[in-house]
Amino acid sequence: MIGLEVHVQLSTDSKLFCSCPTRGSDAEPNTRVCEICLGMPGSKPVLNKKAVDFALKVALALNCELNNEFFFSRKTYFYPDLAKDFQITQYEVPVGKNGFAEVGGKKIRLRRIHLEEDPASLVHESGARQSAYSLVDYNRSGIPLIELVTEPDMQSPAEARRFLDTLLTTLNYLGVYAHGESVLKADCNLSIDGGSRVEVKNVTGFRAVEAALGAEEKRQRSLVDSGKKIEMETRGFDEATGTTYTLRKKETEEDYGFIVDPDLPKVVVDSKWLSLIKAGMPELADSKKKRFMKEFGLSEYDASVLASDKGLAEVFEDAAKADAKIAARLVSRELAGILNYNRVKLGETKVNGKAISELVLLVKGSKVSDKNAKESLIKYVLEGISPKESLEKNNLLIDVSSLDLEGIVKEIVKENPGAFSEYKSGNEKSLNFIIGLVMRKTKGKANPKQVQDILDRLK
Ligand code: ADP
Ligand code: ZN
Ligand code: MG
Repeated sequence: MIGLEVHVQLSTDSKLFCSCPTRGSDAEPNTRVCEICLGMPGSKPVLNKKAVDFALKVALALNCELNNEFFFSRKTYFYPDLAKDFQITQYEVPVGKNGFAEVGGKKIRLRRIHLEEDPASLVHESGARQSAYSLVDYNRSGIPLIELVTEPDMQSPAEARRFLDTLLTTLNYLGVYAHGESVLKADCNLSIDGGSRVEVKNVTGFRAVEAALGAEEKRQRSLVDSGKKIEMETRGFDEATGTTYTLRKKETEEDYGFIVDPDLPKVVVDSKWLSLIKAGMPELADSKKKRFMKEFGLSEYDASVLASDKGLAEVFEDAAKADAKIAARLVSRELAGILNYNRVKLGETKVNGKAISELVLLVKGSKVSDKNAKESLIKYVLEGISPKESLEKNNLLIDVSSLDLEGIVKEIVKENPGAFSEYKSGNEKSLNFIIGLVMRKTKGKANPKQVQDILDRLK
């Protein structure tokens, strides 16, 4: 059984309780700070409404019941990353509760979604476990996070990874998660065969979550196999060795002594605010997938590939105006495959719907061979040259009027009489052989169907 507590950074411009900026990669440590996010005596937090808007959207998108009134509490503990000795979070009443995410047809239940501030970051020169000292950077202190707590509904590390993929897709659709700059952190809970639950704390990134869960499962299985009992504890994950290690054995919620934060008023989400949030909700991946199937007659596979990435879906819908079937094939099979193979994200390329539309039209008008169309897409992804431009530049567009296809086919038939007579007697392989020769001669500009038509006329 696996349950996750996931923290994601919301993409607001300013921090959760002060107006310090959340971004600026060139900023030196401890420059994006003020008396509030440094927790100085007498400073008073002021809630960032945008962060609440974002959290409400996430809660709605993940099918949660919303609390129309909620408040913030102080979670007290001592650590150098926490200047005021308490973290402002939500405990008693979260923004949303009892939601779910659908992952591969299965419902992963969400217990709660709440808002909290990020602590500072501790910087270690030579790895957290080796370093003799910690440096503290408070730039991150006070950055808005949402925490999502799932029920223990996942049954393998791979399923946990798929849950996170689904979650990220939703966050990207909502535009509340700035890709690349913000990291996802998770506390990963795992138990086997009804044994005690072990929590692997603070695992950063998707791949690491899957790896940490895999390592912890292996550790617990080998303990159980040798007749030992699993102790309930909190562990850390060492990415370098791919193993988990003991952090602490006993710690309960009560130890944090939660108290309501008296500096922050309670938040009341009235019906006017809520209807504004609802009106601003975009079409999400699942309904987009269903619409693509209905509106464009796509297969479930193509529709879910396209809908799983907001950018890909936009490119497709643009190109579908030229021809939905061809656009679906070029975007969900070819383009998605090329991105995947080269490990690049759509947002990192120059790919846009207009250029893909141009390519769709070329394919539709039989002005380019499938092979050259695909190669122009690869060039587009890797070098940013639009397919039409690179096909034109390399003289790979089929100009039906100037290409003497009939003459070329006749010539090849003359040079290969054996293959032609085999074709006449019904040999499919020799057809492919002849088409191959025509393709080579025309640099792939010929339409195979037309070549076959000509051959049939020559029979
Ligand atoms: P506690 O209240 O003791 O902190 P919770 O029941 O609130 O523990 O669960 C915290 C996290 O641990 C949740 O994400 C939950 O899904 C997960 N979890 C709870 N029980 C188990 C279990 N037996 N195996 C794996 N994960 C679990
Ligand atoms: Zn600040
Ligand atoms: Mg927490």
